[in-house]
Amino acid sequence: MTQTVDTPMAPTTIDGYRSPNPAEQAVSDPDVSAAWAQEVRELAAEQNAVILAHNYQAPMIQDVADHVGDSLALSRLAAATDAETIIFAGVHFMAETAKILSPDKRVIIPTAAAGCSLADTIDADQLRAWKAEHPGAAVIAYVNTTAEVKAESDICCTSSNAVEVVESVPPDTEILFLPDMFLGAHVRRQTGRSNIHTWLGECHVHADISPSDLVGAMTRNPDAELYVHPECGCSTSALWMASSGEFPADRTHILSTGGMLDAARSTSSQTVLVATEIGMLHQLRKANPGTDFRAVNPQASCRFMKMITPELMLQALRTGRDEVQVEPAIAAHARAAVERMIAIGKPGGGE
Ligand code: SF4
Repeated sequence: MTQTVDTPMAPTTIDGYRSPNPAEQAVSDPDVSAAWAQEVRELAAEQNAVILAHNYQAPMIQDVADHVGDSLALSRLAAATDAETIIFAGVHFMAETAKILSPDKRVIIPTAAAGCSLADTIDADQLRAWKAEHPGAAVIAYVNTTAEVKAESDICCTSSNAVEVVESVPPDTEILFLPDMFLGAHVRRQTGRSNIHTWLGECHVHADISPSDLVGAMTRNPDAELYVHPECGCSTSALWMASSGEFPADRTHILSTGGMLDAARSTSSQTVLVATEIGMLHQLRKANPGTDFRAVNPQASCRFMKMITPELMLQALRTGRDEVQVEPAIAAHARAAVERMIAIGKPGGGE
């Protein structure tokens, strides 16, 4: 299902607290925050529910969850858990992926309006038309796609295994790679293949992390390490500047969100500049409190992710509203594409 939404403007409340945007800010009254978290935890326990939160969620949502991670890791946790209900604090395609991998469980998203500008760049009809122009091509879909698009694809990929997935396709077979053009460019560069056609989709948040943001941040922090998500508009520039010597190559890393966390745990750098959605900083800072993690673009906040507010989290647990459904035939085809990826090994992490 394609999701289109408007930015939520209305103030949101949790019991005893009102803020213009509580998902973006920590609740200032620790007692209110603690009471909210306690109610969420109690309701989840009563319903045998597990709460999963994506790395880009607001810190308050991340901190109340049972597990925080990238989209694929969370979906695999959803499939492995004994809980009957999954509360998925992320965007709609992620909750759908959890449902695809756990068809017998109840999957609830706090608001079904939490879409994704990248997933929305291609629907199943557009993909069918593209396939008709390239008969025989293998279709590789990044996990940031709807269930219908996954069902039309041969194999899924994540940002950390996209290169391995492309290399699993015979060299003389054309590839349709979708939907992210920056990840597609990264894969073309890494594999050296010229028969990869890339859909011209982009995530508005990552595309807005620009080469000039990157140069400015590196100029202000010349000794910093640099973590760049491959969906970013600056990833090509980062690699080019690293290869031309403008940036130190040994301190420039193109990483999935899971890869960033692994790197954060072992870094001894004083400062790390991070080019991805700013929610990621919360987990990086927790993983390594001794390092100063800074956003390359502090405005890079996904409004869809931040639609999951504390109030909606409570509402999801109280009412069970916005249960995610995927039509069984579509789920079966989509699951096959995800499982082919997992069979290649190194599933890594999604966004
Ligand atoms: S950050 Fe971009 S790709 Fe991720 S959910 Fe938001 S709009 Fe979609």
